Amino acid sequence: MFREDKQQPAIVSGSSETSFSLDPSNWAEFRQTAHGLLDDIITHIETIRQRPVWQKPADETRARFAQPLPMESRELGDVLDDVRSHILPFATGNLHPLFMGWVHGAGTPIGMAAEIVSAGLNLNCGGRDHVGLEVEQQIVRWMSEALGYPGGANGLFVTGSSMANFLAVTIAKTEALGQSVRETGLRSSDRELVAYTSSEAHGCIAQAMQLSGIGSANLRKIAVDAAGRMLPDALSATIARDRENGLLPFLVVGTAGTVNTGAIDPLAEIAEIASTEDLWFHVDGAIGALAVFSRSLRDRLKGIERSASVALDFHKWGQVPYDAGFLLVRDGAAQKRAFAQPAAYLQRADRGLAAGETWPCDLGPDLSRGFRALKTWMTIEALGTERIGKSIAHTCELARYLAERLKRDPIFELKAPVALNIVCFGIRGVNDDFVRNLVLDIQESGLAAPSWTTLNGALAVRCAFVNHRTTIADIDAFIETLIQYVAARGV
Ligand SMILES: *Cc1c(COP(=O)(O)O)cnc(C)c1O
Repeated sequence: MFREDKQQPAIVSGSSETSFSLDPSNWAEFRQTAHGLLDDIITHIETIRQRPVWQKPADETRARFAQPLPMESRELGDVLDDVRSHILPFATGNLHPLFMGWVHGAGTPIGMAAEIVSAGLNLNCGGRDHVGLEVEQQIVRWMSEALGYPGGANGLFVTGSSMANFLAVTIAKTEALGQSVRETGLRSSDRELVAYTSSEAHGCIAQAMQLSGIGSANLRKIAVDAAGRMLPDALSATIARDRENGLLPFLVVGTAGTVNTGAIDPLAEIAEIASTEDLWFHVDGAIGALAVFSRSLRDRLKGIERSASVALDFHKWGQVPYDAGFLLVRDGAAQKRAFAQPAAYLQRADRGLAAGETWPCDLGPDLSRGFRALKTWMTIEALGTERIGKSIAHTCELARYLAERLKRDPIFELKAPVALNIVCFGIRGVNDDFVRNLVLDIQESGLAAPSWTTLNGALAVRCAFVNHRTTIADIDAFIETLIQYVAARGV
């Protein structure tokens, strides 16, 4: 199956001494056990519709994970039995087509297969000269191409967009104050940094400002229009006021797909302002950036190609298994200026394992890191961007279909325009408590899993369609469940 180019001399050792290796003593037996597990998890995904979307972990399961640290070995088969009875039934539920809470990707069997290879090879993708770095660079080039960046970009896999956004704030800060800020901290500047985002931005932007030492008090939350998009005039006016007050505007964060409603900020207009005002223009594309894979949605992101950096999540619309956050930075050198550090144990050579000018550990705070690039590469390589793009567009169709169905029933009211794949709605004549309990009832029924959010001060039921398995018939089933549970609560 795997090609081995060079025949290496075999080194035979350890045959007669006591072995301290943690490998199986019987490989044939291990092979059989592992194949059995693989079959079970494939069946689990294949038959996901036959199970509840979600169920609360059983008491015995919670008790199972409260046991003391084991000293003795156990048969792998027994451990896997625990996995079958205590893990598989109590997962998050995001594999199921009727999961529509928050923004969760569903994963694919291809991604799962990739994880087997990654875990088997156990690459450390912090650095050194091996193929893992080539694969990651391929993703950098692919995303540069897809997002319309010129050559010279760099990028990095991280856990998720929360981390990618934090890295972007750190890079923007270093570019604004110069590399000396890495040693002196913010006291090297006689002017206070200030950043801008919309009032609908994800909470991790404020957190990134906190972690960066600038403080979230210096994040201006620019007002949005009725569709939840940043108002460019308000942005310009706020920047002008801050300049008058002697502050140093350095960063504007636009959102491509807000977490509440899926709104896309006017990226081209923000790019223009950022360019005039000399600000770092970062896009939080956690939800929406991968819409560039869809022919029908791509144009909505116009302006993203002018950004300085983009955070995105392959684990959401990209359906890559968790976790696969990514940061793309137009000026690859700027990313390196913010993070690279000289260390004796990270010295480079012109050949051997220490070859290579830029390693991922030069581009972010992680040193040891896994092979997230492989599951992303395998997913994109096997499915192609057309097919992924179509599944993305389909989730938006599902959202529009649900919105249309709800509009026809007078007990429901839409709470926000459907920009992408998210539908927020209320039930006429009920209070927040009703909405919260309705959502919890449905979640606990195992029939569907919506979530809620607060819009204009009131709770709304929120359905985000990210799952590539969801169909129109699932939406019909969801509406039936919804009507039934609303009626059960006495409306
Ligand atoms: C999900 C999300 C984030 C955070 O991304 P993680 O991958 O969960 O860290 C940031 N911004 C938006 C708009 C999101 O939807």
